[in-house]
Amino acid sequence: MPLFCKQCNERRYPIFQTAEKLTLWLCEKCNNYVDPKDVIVRERTKSEKDEMDAKIDNFKKTVVLTGEKMKRRKGVN
Ligand SMILES: [Zn+2]
Repeated sequence: MPLFCKQCNERRYPIFQTAEKLTLWLCEKCNNYVDPKDVIVRERTKSEKDEMDAKIDNFKKTVVLTGEKMKRRKGVN
């Protein structure tokens, strides 16, 4: 398993590719994917990066909104 990146020794993350129906290993530092044989398959595209950033942003927004709601409820009671 290509758990660590050959280029920078960072931990790689398994990302399931729905299109190819296989798991590729992503290095967030080098922005590339390798297959299970540790061969570089492709670079991470900008849209993929944006998608991941958007997910993190949505998560943060949800946490903030939930926190605000709880405060408001306390005020009403
Ligand atoms: Zn790397």
